[in-house]
Amino acid sequence: MRCPYCRVGDSRVLDSRDIDDGAAIRRRRSCPECGRRFTTMEAVSIVVVKRSGAVEPFSRDKVVGGVRKACQGRPVDEDALALLAQQVEEAVRASGVCEIDAHDIGLAILDPLRQLDEVAYLRFASVYRSFESLSDFESEIRSLRSSHDRLIDVVATTEQEPVGVLAGRTTT
Ligand SMILES: [Zn+2]
Repeated sequence: MRCPYCRVGDSRVLDSRDIDDGAAIRRRRSCPECGRRFTTMEAVSIVVVKRSGAVEPFSRDKVVGGVRKACQGRPVDEDALALLAQQVEEAVRASGVCEIDAHDIGLAILDPLRQLDEVAYLRFASVYRSFESLSDFESEIRSLRSSHDRLIDVVATTEQEPVGVLAGRTTT
């Protein structure tokens, strides 16, 4: 790695450490020529393959841009969109691939978007999954409803337990 001060094309690594849970490495270097120190970062870059076959670097901004339209008029602020883009990037990185289809980015967006706002999710999913009729919406809404029911079940069972314990305590 070339020294950014004197441009000599050689440097010595003093220290390397993992950052971002191993997603990147930071290296402390020193220049044997001028003796100055500098830091470099190394991370796997994720490449997005578009339907046309063209490739471009993964960009959180692009994710936000793709989701923003679906969130119009919804109570979703820029911070929430930025967090969603981060979750999408983390999901992609966690899958361990360095090349991903643009279509699969859409897939990685669906889950966090459903947690964020269900109306925005329905809008996004209708475009992404090319809903063609009302019944496509109906079945998606049905699956949203059933995941609500599951959630209510979980809340109900977790609430019941402490009540049971409490009841046991009062009887003794
Ligand atoms: Zn130097």
